[in-house]
Amino acid sequence: MEEISTLPEMKEKVGEARRKGHIIGLVPTMGCLHAGHMSLVDRARKECGLTVVSIFINPSQFGPNEDLASYPVRLDEDRARLRSSGVDVLFLPTRETIYPHGYRTYVEVEEITRHLCGKSRPGFFRGVATVVLKLFNIVKPDRAYFGEKDWQQLAVVESLVRDLNLDVTLVRLPIVRDPDGVAVSSRNLYLSPAERVSAAALSGALQSARKKILEGERSGEKIRQHMRELIQKQNGAEIDYISLCDPETFQDREELRGRTLIALAVKVGQARLIDNCLVDAS
Ligand code: AMP
Repeated sequence: MEEISTLPEMKEKVGEARRKGHIIGLVPTMGCLHAGHMSLVDRARKECGLTVVSIFINPSQFGPNEDLASYPVRLDEDRARLRSSGVDVLFLPTRETIYPHGYRTYVEVEEITRHLCGKSRPGFFRGVATVVLKLFNIVKPDRAYFGEKDWQQLAVVESLVRDLNLDVTLVRLPIVRDPDGVAVSSRNLYLSPAERVSAAALSGALQSARKKILEGERSGEKIRQHMRELIQKQNGAEIDYISLCDPETFQDREELRGRTLIALAVKVGQARLIDNCLVDAS
């Protein structure tokens, strides 16, 4: 595996792959890699002649009181995982490479970013859209791989690609969970054993809500209340949002109908966890 941190080296590498006719795949991450990331990597490896995994903790997507300074870093373990899974290039740019002195251009995806995580983390999706566009411009991938764990982020990146006519195919992969149901996440490292039990209640609440909807419940508020009760019972759990919404526009649905996204963000101890599931309420 080659490790690249500068733009000219990256340009050289992708230029060479393109000349050889290889399909270039990109998996953007913030590192501290886990089975969720590796599902994206494995898929990219199968479909692409050159698989690039980027690790960049993007400062522009963190708010002033968020965990940028304490975000977990495990570079040695990440390198070993990527090497053994056959990744071609680890792209590890510095903050100065991505945001050099005088940097002043940002991308804003409108409307869908007003809801859910966009509402509780102002500026988050502006940071995400900006860094994803920059990574696309640097690596010029044919295919880019994202997880449905960050459902709204995927919708933002889909808008970015469509609205700005980017020549990249997005590949979306399902949420990878641990055996206790918890969606794997770098931030799970913040959880104490007791908090881990609370975290498991989040996917439990999603599954319970899904079951009620499949059994015929159509009141968004009743389902929300049911989930609130399940989660509030947990030690150290502080609900940011619980939403039953349209999976494309993220508008809340009071009367449930059609494809519905159940999404939540809950702070458990120091960790802000997000999770979601899709249900058909037709
Ligand atoms: P992150 O490093 O958290 O920015 O995530 C990088 C990519 O991995 C994003 O596309 C995430 O959606 C994806 N990802 C994170 N956790 C999971 C998971 N549990 N299952 C599937 N994909 C995930």
